[in-house]
Amino acid sequence: MTSNACITRFAPSPTGYLHAGHAYSALFSQQAAQVVGGKFLLRIEDIDHTRCRAKYETAIYQDLAWLGLQWETPVRRQSEHLTEYQLALDKLRQQQWIYPCFCTRKDILTKIEQSNTAHPHSSELLYPGICRKLSADEQETRIGNGEEFALRLDLKKARASLNGKKLTWHDRIHGPQTARPELLGDAILARKDIHCSYHLAVVLDDSLQQISLVIRGQDLFESTHLHRLLQALLNLPVPEYAHHPLIKDAAGTRLAKRKKSPALKDLRTSGLNAKGFLKSLPSFKFDG
Ligand code: GLU
Repeated sequence: MTSNACITRFAPSPTGYLHAGHAYSALFSQQAAQVVGGKFLLRIEDIDHTRCRAKYETAIYQDLAWLGLQWETPVRRQSEHLTEYQLALDKLRQQQWIYPCFCTRKDILTKIEQSNTAHPHSSELLYPGICRKLSADEQETRIGNGEEFALRLDLKKARASLNGKKLTWHDRIHGPQTARPELLGDAILARKDIHCSYHLAVVLDDSLQQISLVIRGQDLFESTHLHRLLQALLNLPVPEYAHHPLIKDAAGTRLAKRKKSPALKDLRTSGLNAKGFLKSLPSFKFDG
């Protein structure tokens, strides 16, 4: 590998079977790594034990092999690194950049309805700050009473620590970007049930695995604004990004696991030739 070689990754969650959109991300990532003799890594994002299944993980390896992809080993499985994520949460807690949130979804929806605080520029439901206002005593009492809690980013405090410094990143498809973490507000960094979150684990792993180019679908573009802030708070390097357009079906609907889009597993086991399938994917181009 040369010193400026690109390290990319494909990071699926085994919560369903992969579809053509995943194949697109994986291929795009492997091709980018190949250009200058870099590395293509596979990471299994399986922190959500409530939804991950072994059969989906097995299918990931089989689907990628069917597509003709080769990845470095060992494969990183996030469920084997939970203590690393807890250490990062400790750092954020020490700086008071996170706070416990006891709210249920219903509490949040009721508050938003009452105060009409839905964010006009975000697809996310922004947290209206109910638990941000709790005193340290109240937090302690509720935790002591055994109430379950998530940990949320205190966006205002976290941003204040930047002393007005703008956070930027480069997207090879969309060009230079300035982070707007307000798009996700006081995001959850540790869920009540799994004590971690996609956002926290992904920025830590991209750094630990020295990923230099993150290639993923446009649906995660807003998340990158938050990821950039987390990188600054945790003192992590900033990779380049390429958020590619999402693959749609013939009716123009975005593919999604939950919509039961045609699974690669079904195409594979039907005897379809992978080369033919790959040709049917739109070609892509990005700068660099
Ligand atoms: N694990 C995420 C997913 O399957 C993708 C993470 C990423 O590429 O950053 O949607």
